[in-house]
Amino acid sequence: MKFGGTSVGSPERIEQVYQIVSPLLDKKPIVVVSAVGGVTDLLIEAGQKALAGSLDISKIKAKHEAVIQGLGLDEHIIDDMHRELESLLMGIMMIREISPRTSDYLVSFGERVSCQLVAAHFRNKGVKAKHHFAYDLGMYTDNNFQNALPLPKAFEALGKNIHALDHLPIVTGFIGHNDKAEITTLGRGGSDYTAAIIGAAVGAEEIQIWTDVNGILSTDPRIVQSAHNLPVVSFKEAAELAYFGAKVLHPKTIRPAMDRDIPVVVKNTANPDHAGTRILSDSPTSTTTVKAISVKKNVSLINIYSLRMLDAFGFLAKIFDIFSRNHVVVDMVSTSEVSVTVTVDAGQNIQPVVDELSEFAQVRVDKDLSIICLVGEGMRKGIGVAGKVFDVMAKESIPVEMISQGASDINLGFVVGQEHASKAVERLHAVLFGE
Ligand code: ADP
Ligand code: ASP
Ligand code: MG
Repeated sequence: MKFGGTSVGSPERIEQVYQIVSPLLDKKPIVVVSAVGGVTDLLIEAGQKALAGSLDISKIKAKHEAVIQGLGLDEHIIDDMHRELESLLMGIMMIREISPRTSDYLVSFGERVSCQLVAAHFRNKGVKAKHHFAYDLGMYTDNNFQNALPLPKAFEALGKNIHALDHLPIVTGFIGHNDKAEITTLGRGGSDYTAAIIGAAVGAEEIQIWTDVNGILSTDPRIVQSAHNLPVVSFKEAAELAYFGAKVLHPKTIRPAMDRDIPVVVKNTANPDHAGTRILSDSPTSTTTVKAISVKKNVSLINIYSLRMLDAFGFLAKIFDIFSRNHVVVDMVSTSEVSVTVTVDAGQNIQPVVDELSEFAQVRVDKDLSIICLVGEGMRKGIGVAGKVFDVMAKESIPVEMISQGASDINLGFVVGQEHASKAVERLHAVLFGE
């Protein structure tokens, strides 16, 4: 049972977490928690301030103290954590550098604190609960700071160690250890992934993701307020939605669940009676062709043009080898006889790729774009979806920079300028779902 930032963001929500978990103690739940809402961002901000020469953790302390006071916990419960955080920031201030390794150590404070607060509340309520840093239970990862992957041995270790516990474990999401016992993180939003890894490791009956909305919705509710709940979604649909921007699930969450065929349930901590969304291996064929629309912002498009591509074999291999060697992940691809266009997340360092490609091709990079993705198993046999997209975009005078169908037969992705993304989603949602 994973509880996100908002779900552990206030004394009232943490009490709600207790109300949700305590009736299920017989089922031996494992609780995974995110940092108290907003704390991860504040830690990153404090790191930036330290880089610029000032040390200030007052906002972070205030968030934690509000929880401590509201729940009546021991006021010194995390004093040592705040001291350790201050020492780290002092170090950053002195050397004026934050490496990815230091950044992971820095943001780990969020989860390392929240698990202690939640466990203390459960104990005050009379539950035999203890906090655990996930790496102490076996969350071993590779060395890829800020985006680490669990090692195969993690699953075995987590399974064995957690089964041996005789209390309710309250475990940190998001963080792990590399082989040198240095703290790594699974990427922003990674607590969902932690829950899925642990769920798969122990062979859980169900993986529950408790958040601040009624499950997976037809689109981002921050764009379309009337977005509706999806009662059942297939693993494939959920994976596509998460990968292409639906923040409600970390993109890698589905994989461990799918491997062991464990249902994932997404529910609202503030509205626990709502059934939320069940993610299963098969979802019943829905009446609508498109089930949901997701948006992935901060995308760049790389267009690679070369006449040498005509009739040359090995050309695509050569291009993708360059991306692969430079560790740049490609999301969407479209090719013509003389050009290849790909989209990449703008957060990545693409310069080395552009330099290498420029040795044999003309390369153009377009920035500030968004991918809009329509997803639904019904799209396999649905006709006319692309037509509707072009129709809506033409009516709104929104240029479509790229379109791609076929990477998976259950999705259709297209790229528009970031400034048009919300409008495009609103209009499509209205046309497809009549809302
Ligand atoms: P948590 O802190 O619980 O992990 P997140 O903020 O990471 O919560 O994810 C939940 C948020 O995801 C929602 O509040 C909503 O704004 C956003 N979101 C984006 N797309 C969707 C979608 N299709 N369905 C539900 N929520 C979505
Ligand atoms: N606290 C981390 C983040 O904000 C992980 C998570 O919430 O899932 O990214
Ligand atoms: Mg999240």
